[in-house]
Amino acid sequence: MNFAGRTAVVTGGSRGIGRAVCLELARGGANVALCYAGNETAAQETAAAIEALGAKALAVRCDVSDAAQAESLVSQAVEAFGTVDILVNNAGITRDGLLMRMPEADFDAVISANLKGAFLCMKAVARLMIRRKYGRIVNLSSVVGLRGNAGQVNYAASKAGVIGMTKSLAKELASKGVTVNAVAPGFIETDMTAAMQEAARMAVQASIPMGRPGAAEDVAHAVAFLASEEAAYITGQVLAVDGGMAM
Ligand code: NAP
Repeated sequence: MNFAGRTAVVTGGSRGIGRAVCLELARGGANVALCYAGNETAAQETAAAIEALGAKALAVRCDVSDAAQAESLVSQAVEAFGTVDILVNNAGITRDGLLMRMPEADFDAVISANLKGAFLCMKAVARLMIRRKYGRIVNLSSVVGLRGNAGQVNYAASKAGVIGMTKSLAKELASKGVTVNAVAPGFIETDMTAAMQEAARMAVQASIPMGRPGAAEDVAHAVAFLASEEAAYITGQVLAVDGGMAM
C-alpha cells in the first residue's frame, strides 16, 4: 500500500494491534501521529520503529475519552504534518466480569474508552476531512461486538456500538469523499488477550475454524487496506479478521 504524503492518526498506537497498524502505514510512507494512555516507553519505542522505516512519527499522550485531549491530538498531528488523511480508532480496554458482579464504573470505563473515544476522535477529524474531500476512518470493533461474549457485556456493547456508529457516519460522509469502515478482529495475540486465563484461552482457540490465534499484523493488513486509496468505493463495512470465528 502506498501512503506517501498521507498523515495518519492511530489511537492506542503504543502496543499490540495499534503498534502493528502504525508500522504498516509507515512502511507505506505515511506520517504517523500515535497516541497512548500512559505507557510512554512503549509509545516512544513505536515512534522510533516508525522513524527507522523512514517515516515521521509523533507520540502524544492522550486519553481519547476526553474531548479536549482528542481535539488536541488531532491539532498536534495537523501542526506537525499539515493535515490528517487517515484516522484509526484502535484504543481500547477491557474490564471483564459477569453482569451481576460488574461494577457500574467498569461499564462506564469501557464505554468511555472504546465507544466515546472513537466518537470524539471522529468528531475531531470530520470537519478537516470534509473540507479536503478526502478521508479514511477505520474503527476497531471485535468479534465480541458481532456475537456477544459471557463476561463482557460492557465490551460487547462498546464494540457493537462502534459498528452502529461506523455505519451511521459512513452514511453521513459518503458523498464527501470520506469512507468509514470497521475491522472486527477475533482472538489476536496481544497484551489484552495475554491477560486471559489459560482455560478461557483454550476455549476461545477451540472456536476458531483456523485453529490458531491471529497476529497483530493480520489485523494491520486489513486496516491498511481500508485506509488505502484503493478502498475508495468501500464504506460502512465490517471486515472480520478472525480465522473464521464470526461466520
Ligand atoms: P492492547 O495491547 O491492550 O493495547 C491497547 C492500546 O490502547 C494501548 O496502546 C493503550 O495505551 C491504548 N489505550 C487504552 N486506553 C486508552 C485511552 N483511554 N486513550 C488512549 N489510548 C488508550 O490492545 P490490543 O489487543 O492491541 O487491542 C487494540 C484494539 O483492538 C482494541 O480496540 C481492542 O478492543 C480491539 N480488539 C482486540 C482483540 C484482541 O484479540 N487483541 C480482538 C478484537 C478487538 P498504553 O500503551 O499507554 O496503555
